[in-house]
Amino acid sequence: MKFENSLAFARSLDKRDTLKSYRSQFLIPKVNGKTSIYLTGNSLGLQPKTTKKFVNEELDDWAKLGVEGHVHSRRPWLYYHKFSKKSLAKIVGGKPTEVVAMNQLTVNLHLMMVSFYRPTKQRFKILTESGAFSSDQYAFETQLKFHGYTTDEALIELKPRNGESYLRTEDILQAIRENADELALVIFGGVQYYTGQFFNIPAITTAGHEAGAIVGFDLAHAVGNVALNLHKDNVDFAVWCSYKYLNAGPGAIAGAFVHERHGRNFQLPRFSGWWGHNEKERFQMKKGFVPMEGVDGWQLSNFPILQGAAHLASMEIFDQAGIKNLVAKSKLLTGYLEFLLNEINKDRKYFRILTPSDPKERGCQLSIFMLQNGRKVFQKLTREGVIADWREPNVIRVAPVPLYNSFEDVFRFAEIFQRAVR
Ligand SMILES: *Cc1c(COP(=O)(O)O)cnc(C)c1O
Repeated sequence: MKFENSLAFARSLDKRDTLKSYRSQFLIPKVNGKTSIYLTGNSLGLQPKTTKKFVNEELDDWAKLGVEGHVHSRRPWLYYHKFSKKSLAKIVGGKPTEVVAMNQLTVNLHLMMVSFYRPTKQRFKILTESGAFSSDQYAFETQLKFHGYTTDEALIELKPRNGESYLRTEDILQAIRENADELALVIFGGVQYYTGQFFNIPAITTAGHEAGAIVGFDLAHAVGNVALNLHKDNVDFAVWCSYKYLNAGPGAIAGAFVHERHGRNFQLPRFSGWWGHNEKERFQMKKGFVPMEGVDGWQLSNFPILQGAAHLASMEIFDQAGIKNLVAKSKLLTGYLEFLLNEINKDRKYFRILTPSDPKERGCQLSIFMLQNGRKVFQKLTREGVIADWREPNVIRVAPVPLYNSFEDVFRFAEIFQRAVR
């Protein structure tokens, strides 16, 4: 599409947008009494107006039924983890038996690594991107320690080439081949939180498998943001959080995917709890853990219902909007943002966009590396009602989210940004 730098054009795109009504289903924060331009759905997604209803229904059922709510509430608490499966399966491209909402992201990452990082004398290395999110780095470091390795000897972190801001797929694949004999686990972000790069999941997975390694992904910034096909791509496992693009609220219940071929492998070592035990005899309190088939066999504890209710409110919206439609709009919305930014930066002196320009290699986020006055520009944005995100040393991340951001939002942001940088 040929974009134009005008409010009228932005509004014409909004008019044609078949998803435009979803914006009114969200509560958008105000700044100085005016609706903000909220571009931080990559950090905390906005609250759907239906969330309160879902949570209140559980509070009501708890009030009315007490413990009986486990079986007799409108969404019986005993089975709550099942209610989001179909929706999650569509969002990540898996089967319902391969996905489950549980715990928090970093907890799930550890649980998955317990089962899928199985170092041997010969194969003990983990290969990942450099500059992974801190929590992931801590998980890798301490999992290695747990098995008696240091990061120096066993963690391979791939850096972009000199002068480049993100990894080339060909370089990732080559590194996998070069380390093939020693790799136990290849693990990448789905979308890199800092650069916004969407890694090539099928290519990395195939290369990892050819090398004889297990391949997992942290989808924190990918889930609900980009098109995923975890089952078809043969990914071994994945984890994600639900407070970013999934809009399930601060500290929301997270999720995990385990490919069905592993879901039937009951020999896999795992850290277990009663919610992962065969549900037919869960309440017999017998000795001897018998995992349920599928990812459900990795659950530990009984389900957090209030968090789960907020999560279901979000799932309902994703079901209605459809992830394919959202991704299609997202490409246009972020493409428009990129176009407007490039208009401002014609002589390339203000900033550099770190995120790949190929829409196949990114989600909705663009990471703007400021070449001058980064902090000042960011403060000015904030004063003018833009809620964006600052990352040291000088990166402003902006993420127009197709569910609730409009083309007009993007246009107005660019206007304010232009005034701020000049
Ligand atoms: C947001 C994010 C986290 C946060 O971890 P929690 O366990 O949810 O606190 C971890 N890793 C990545 C890549 C993230 O983007």
